[in-house]
Order: sequence, then structure tokens, then C-alpha cells
Amino acid sequence: MQSHSRSNKLLQMNRYVISALMFVLVAGLGVYWSHISQRAIDNEQRLLMNEIVNAQAATIERRLAQALSSTRIMAVEVKQQQGMIDDFDSYAAEVLLSVGGVSNLQLAPGGIIEKIYPLKGNETALGHNILKDDSRRQEARLAIEERRLTLAGPFELIQGGVAVIGRNPVFLGPPGDDAFWGFTSALIFLDDLLAVTELNQLQSKGYRYQLTRNHPDTGQPDLISASEKPVSGIQQAINIKVPNAVWTLTMSRPAPRADWMTGLAYLVSLLAGLLTAWIVSFVLQQPEKLKEIVRQKTAELEELAFYDHLTGLANRRLLIEQLTQVIRQSARDKHAAALLYLDLDDFKRVNDSLGHEAGDRLLKNISDRLTSIVRESDIVARLGGDEFAVLLIDAKSLRDVSRIAEKLIEQIEKPVPLDNKEFIVSTSVGITMIPTDGHDATTLLSNADIAMYAAKRAGKRNFRFFDQAMQTKALEKMQVEEDLIVAISQNQFVLHYQPLLNLSDNSLCSFEALIRWQHSESSLLYPDKFISIAEETGKIVDIGYWVIREACKTIKARAVDHDKRQRIAVNLSPRQFNDPDLLVNIRDIVRSENIDARSLEIEVTESTLMKDISVAIEVLSELKSMGITITIDDFGTGYSSLAILKQLPVDKLKIDRSFVMDLESDRNDQEIVRGLIAIAHTLKIKVVAEGIETKAQCRLLREYGCDFGQGFLFSKPLPIQAFQTKQVFSVKSEVATQS
Ligand code: C2E
Ligand code: CA
Ligand code: CA
Repeated sequence: MQSHSRSNKLLQMNRYVISALMFVLVAGLGVYWSHISQRAIDNEQRLLMNEIVNAQAATIERRLAQALSSTRIMAVEVKQQQGMIDDFDSYAAEVLLSVGGVSNLQLAPGGIIEKIYPLKGNETALGHNILKDDSRRQEARLAIEERRLTLAGPFELIQGGVAVIGRNPVFLGPPGDDAFWGFTSALIFLDDLLAVTELNQLQSKGYRYQLTRNHPDTGQPDLISASEKPVSGIQQAINIKVPNAVWTLTMSRPAPRADWMTGLAYLVSLLAGLLTAWIVSFVLQQPEKLKEIVRQKTAELEELAFYDHLTGLANRRLLIEQLTQVIRQSARDKHAAALLYLDLDDFKRVNDSLGHEAGDRLLKNISDRLTSIVRESDIVARLGGDEFAVLLIDAKSLRDVSRIAEKLIEQIEKPVPLDNKEFIVSTSVGITMIPTDGHDATTLLSNADIAMYAAKRAGKRNFRFFDQAMQTKALEKMQVEEDLIVAISQNQFVLHYQPLLNLSDNSLCSFEALIRWQHSESSLLYPDKFISIAEETGKIVDIGYWVIREACKTIKARAVDHDKRQRIAVNLSPRQFNDPDLLVNIRDIVRSENIDARSLEIEVTESTLMKDISVAIEVLSELKSMGITITIDDFGTGYSSLAILKQLPVDKLKIDRSFVMDLESDRNDQEIVRGLIAIAHTLKIKVVAEGIETKAQCRLLREYGCDFGQGFLFSKPLPIQAFQTKQVFSVKSEVATQS
């Protein structure tokens, strides 16, 4: 059990590990894929951005270069004219037209702005000394020193607007001996410069840009121009070479796929991972579930196999298992144990009268009581039907065991409430001791069973210890049981007949048929050797019908032989009396043997009738209506009240031999017999006395008014042929009359 749960846990852990791995794998793949695709998109974005930014930068560069070329053109003109350009305005207008992108052109001889074209709007700049202007001086100087075009700005112009200015220093004179003349400058409005690019259109498409330069003084990036929204995310930057500075154009475009989408992709990946893990876990769980179902079913089967489903007690199989262990232990530890076998007396009565459900409740009730009496270590089992067993693990002494048996009997006898009625059942207990009585479960169970039957036979509601004699008897019984089967098939039975006489005139009244068994291996066997066993095993039913048929044959034969018709009585056993086919079968036999039913008599014992009085009345009435005479046998031994007798359709009453036996000496018996006869007569019932052995008995009975007599005094039971010759019988009857 423990190892089972351990392996179960292991399985479960494996399942968790595999599921976790699946989660990591799937979620990981998802995240990785999202990441890769994001990267690919980013790269593509970057490439695109790169192209765009390159194109824009190239445009700016080209435009600027073109614009700045105007200063060189003017410088050439200044050199040719050795100073100031004549008619500057028309010249400049021509240059502006051919160059484009320039806002105005200037001439600043000696650094002082003298000419501006177009002048309109720029008037304020005239006369401005560049070399003295704090913000421009440096570049101007640089241009002179390095003798090259420099770019200044962007800065706010005095006349308004933001612009860059290209200054070209012009030197006059022969090479090597030339002198600074002044600047030819071109002013380029930033707006104009940028207007030639596509930056604006791009901005409306969502692109962002910024154009910066490294400030010549501070070395810090300085914003020249930017889109409304700042650059962010993936950006591409490119340097634009301008004279004496580096500009940087940076562009960006917010990712076409928003961040939340990436987040969503990751989330979906995680969810996919979780889902896969769950599915894997679920799939892996199936065999475990199956195992669990198998385990449960096995346990259920075990329960079915080892426990009684009605009471929950151990069943026979489990008892045998435990018994075997106890036998082994008791042999090893040299201590005694006891097995008690209990059989409820007359439990069938409960089932028959109250139904099986009530019977079941009774059994449950009893099983509870049994468990409450014994120790927890002891075992109580239900062996089936109304049979229980108690295994006392530790039986200190026979006294001890007896006490427990008594307690069990007492407890079981306490009334059980069933259907508003209190029901009382008793029990008979057979006890066998371990290890004294046997060393294996089968022997011990059979011992206890034998002892239990002994207790039953001894009058029920008590207990018996097993002893060897019982076993011998039991073995004999078993032998008889087997032989009975042979006897029936080989027709080994014979009937003897005992006559009944009218005590008034000693005339022959009837015969009682009594069975004998011509056993193949022994002398003639008398009923006491086999009838009770046949009754117990049910064989009596078949035997009984054989007896009736045989008696009918005799009736038939004698009806032909003799003109006097004496009735023949047969004994009906309790089992046979309760056979549902009894009436049908008797009718059948009577018809097929073709006899007059009035020649047939039936003897039933008082106790048989008392089992169920209403059934008895019904069956007897039917038999009587067929013309059959009815006698109550062994009267006085049962507990029937004479009031009940009144209800029964009975013709005769046979006073039991035990009352006749001591009739001469026992005053009490005399009283009883006399009383019985008197009452029977008032009920119009005839009386027979059986077992008359002495003349004195016969005389007394005649005196009391007994109608018929039967006994060895007249004749022993004999084969019917013995009564063909009347002498045998008449001699004896004479003896009887004389007394
Ligand atoms: P029962 O029906 O009471 O039969 C009378 C028994 O008393 C017979 O014993 C008979 O032999 C014996 N008996 C008769 N007169 C005397 C006497 O004066 N003194 C003594 N000591 N005994 C006498 P049996 O034949 O051994 O039968 C014993 C019992 O077996 C019968 O008792 C009856 O209950 C049963 N039995 C016999 N034959 C049949 C049968 O065919 N079917 C059934 N079901 N039971 C039978
Ligand atoms: Ca009888
Ligand atoms: Ca009798």
C-alpha cells in the first residue's frame, strides 16, 4: 500500500516535471519567435529608415553645396573686377536665379556688409561688421585664417528668421602676395533649405526627425531643426558634411507594431505554454486515472471477496485466512485460541413471516451485537445465511470460552424490534479449541460445525465443545448421507407394518407402516439410524413418497386378498408435510395406484403441525376432503394447546409412548392420559395409545376409554405377509383380551 502511494507520488511528480518542461518549451518558443519576428521587423524598419535618412541627408547636402557654390561664383567675379562688383544687384539676381535655394547674397569687403541682394527686409544688416560681431567673429576669422568657405549658424537673423550663412573669404593680389579683401556670402534660410527635402511629407506619414550640429564653441549637439514630435524608438542617424562642421540628421518612426502587441504576443506565448502544459498533464494523467480506477475496482473486489456485503463482517474466506494465521501463531507461541460457530435457531421463521428485508435487518443487528461483545482483536465473521463465527484469538481457559459463549447466546436472545414487533431468536454455538482439536482451518471449521449441531440437537440455545465422539458421529452421519442416495436408487427400503387394535373388542383396526432399510453392508436398519439424517438433508421427501406409494400398493393388494379393508397409516415427516407438492403428489399416487383414499391414514407429529398452524389447517383440510384419515402422532410431547387442537381437522390423536411406558406406576401420567382422552372425546377425536407393552397398560387404557391400542403386546412391526395368516396376530390379541 505504502509503496503503491510512493510510486503514485513519483508518477505525479514526473507528470508535473514533464508538464513544466512543456510549458517552458512552448512558452519559450513563443517568446523567442515573437522576439525574432520583432527583431526582423525592427531590422527592416532600420533598413528603411536608413534609406530614407540617407536620401534626406543627400538632398540637404546637395542643396547646401549648390547654395554655397554661389559664394564661389561671386568670389570669382570679385577677383575679376579687383574689388567691388559693379551693378551687384543685377549680377546677384542672375546668380540667385541659376543657383536657387539661397535667400540672399552679400558682399562684405573688410568684413563689413555692404551689399545685400535682395535688400528688401534685410536693410538692418547693412553696415554690420562681421569681424566684430561676437557670435560670428570666430567663424569669420576661421574662414580668413584657413582661407576657405565656412558655414555659420544656424542663427536668428537680425532681420528675422533662422538661417545659415556660407562665407567665402576672397583674397586679391598675386598668388603668395595676396591680401584679404572681404567675404562673399550667401544666406540660406533654413526653411528654404529644408523645403527641398521630403522631411515635411515624411512627418505627416509619422516619421520624426531631428537635425543637429556640433556647436563649434561648446562641442555640444545643437538642435537645428526637428519634427513636432521628438524622435524615439528605432532611429537612424547620418552625418551631413558641411563646411567646418558636421550636421547630423536623425530619423525615427514609431514601430508600426505597438509595444502592447509585442506584449500580447508574449502573453499569448505564455498562455499557449500553459495550455500545452495543461493538456500534457491531462493526457499524462489518464493512465494514472486508469490505474486509480483499477486500484479502486481491485479494492472493491477485495471487499467483495473478503467481506460479507450485508453485515460488513469478514466472510468465510477471510475467516479461513485469519484462522490459518492464528493456528500458526498458537503453535508457535503455545497459547490457545477458540473458534465458535453460531447458527441462529429458527431464523427461517423470521424470513418466512416478515420477509427477507426484515431478516436482513435482524442479521445486521445481531452482527453488531456480536462485534460489541468480543475484543477488537477477535474476529467475527458471517459464514452465510444465519451462520456466524467468532474467532477468539486468546482463549485462556475453557471456562473463559464458555463464559463468552454464554454471553453471545444471551446477547443474541435479546429482543430485536422489527416492524413494530419484538423478535427473539436464539442461537446454538459449537466450539472447537485451537490447537487441541485440529491444525488446519478446514478441520477446525468442521469441528465447530459438528459441535454446533450437537448443541442444536441438545435442544438449541446452548453451546457444546467439540469432542472426538461427536466427530465419530458426524462421520457416521456423513456415511449415512452418502448411502441414502444409493438406497433410494437401489430400492433398499422395506416397510413393516404394526397393527392397531380396537381396544373395545380387540379387532384389527388398521396398520402403521414403518420403514426399514435393508442396507447392503449391514443388517436391517431402523428409522432412528437414518430418518433424522434424511430429514436434515431433505432426502426424506423422496423416501416419504416411496413409503406412501408402497403403502398404497399394500392397500391395493390386501383389498383384493381380503374383504376386510384395514386402513394403512404412513408417517409424514416435517419436511414432507411442508413440501408444496404434497397434496398434488398424494392425489397422484392415490389415483395411479388406484386405491380408495379412505384406506389411507396419515400421521403427523404435533410439533410438525405447530410450526405454522394456518398452513397445517389448510393442508389437513385438503387431505381430509380427499377422505384420508388424520392422526396426530406423539401427542403430548409438543406444546400444542388443546384449544388449537379444536381448529385442526383431526380424526385421531396418538398418545406418545412416554406416557404409556410408566402408566402403571406414574399417577401423574395416569392423570394426563385420562384427561387427554376425555378432552379428545369431547372434541370428537378418537384416541390411540402407542407402545403398549404390558397387559396392565392395556387394561388401564381400556378403563380410561382409549379407543385404539398399538404396541409390542399385540405385535411388533412385521412384513405385511406376516398378517396374511390370521393366527400370528389373533394369538397375541387373545392374550391382550384376557388381561
Ligand atoms: P413413531 O411414528 O412413533 O412409530 C412408533 C415407533 O414405536 C416405531 O419405531 C415402533 O417400532 C415403535 N414401537 C411400537 N410399539 C412399541 C412398543 O410396544 N414398545 C417400544 N419400545 N416401541 C414400540 P420405529 O419403527 O423404529 O420408528 C421410529 C420412528 O421413526 C417412528 O416413530 C417415526 O417417527 C419414524 N418413522 C418410521 N417410519 C417412518 C416413515 O416411513 N416415514 C417417516 N417420516 N418416519 C418414519
Ligand atoms: Ca407414527
Ligand atoms: Ca409415535
